[in-house]
Amino acid sequence: MTTTQAVRTEPDLATILRTYNEVTERLKRSHEALLTEVARLHDELHEKNRELQRRERLAALGEMAAGLAHEIRNPLGGIGLYASVLEKDLADRPRERDVARRISAGVGNLERIVRDILAFAGDADPKLADVRLDGVLDAVLGHAAPAARARMVNLAVDSDLGELTVRCDAGQIERALLNLVLNAIDAVDDGGHVRVRASRRPNELGSVAIVVEDDGAGIAAEHLHRIFNPFFTTKDHGTGLGLAIVHRIAEAHGGSITARNRSEGGASFVLSLPLGRARSNGRKPRNTRGVEIVRGFAPAAKE
Ligand code: ADP
Repeated sequence: MTTTQAVRTEPDLATILRTYNEVTERLKRSHEALLTEVARLHDELHEKNRELQRRERLAALGEMAAGLAHEIRNPLGGIGLYASVLEKDLADRPRERDVARRISAGVGNLERIVRDILAFAGDADPKLADVRLDGVLDAVLGHAAPAARARMVNLAVDSDLGELTVRCDAGQIERALLNLVLNAIDAVDDGGHVRVRASRRPNELGSVAIVVEDDGAGIAAEHLHRIFNPFFTTKDHGTGLGLAIVHRIAEAHGGSITARNRSEGGASFVLSLPLGRARSNGRKPRNTRGVEIVRGFAPAAKE
């Protein structure tokens, strides 16, 4: 081995140290990156486990609730019937008739709860069909219009979806959106505003977002993580099942539902739905931006 070769192959101490430091630094960086990734995966796993537990709890709860609801439904129907017969028989005795009327009203409330429980616990498998979203929105807003009118609430739709067709269960999506819109109407003061906005998600062309927002008081911070739980309600006559039903429907469609408070006040719920197989029908989109919902019931337009 020549001297020149020896100089080339034996680096001085400074070079060794520099290389050592570089390698250590690189190792440290990859170690940190690995730790971050492990932490992220851990969080993800934790979240998935929580979601799984939630599903299992809900399935058990749903089964029990459905059993109870079925047992209650028949005798309740009987009580309602007898109360209405009594109400008629007592036409000339106002005090007693008033008692029968209250029984009927109570039965009406219980029937609503039973209906909600059965909707929550019932068959969630969507019957998929190609559905025009503007038709679904028309139907929802048509159904909600009387409640809005009664409280002088300004109900508006703003959609740039045109005649977009989505593969979904129209009945389920109508029900989910109606729950959101009726909640929003409940949440605002008389004369308040509820707006439904529908658009394609900017970063996910394969999905649409339907936003229901209001200018009510918003959702208390301590309630935000509980509102999708079945039977959670802050209303005197609420069943606490409306949002649980929305959550279930969103999941059954492979979509999602989220809630947040708006910085300008009020709440905002976003229902995201994947577009699925059926996409636009190719016709030019019709802009229905800013349509005021003052018309009566309009049946869903199906293709
Ligand atoms: P319910 O309407 O019977 O109470 P939901 O499951 O539909 O049941 O709603 C649960 C709770 O979520 C409501 O009681 C209310 O506290 C809250 N909530 C829902 N929508 C809104 C909204 N738009 N603004 C403020 N709070 C809301």
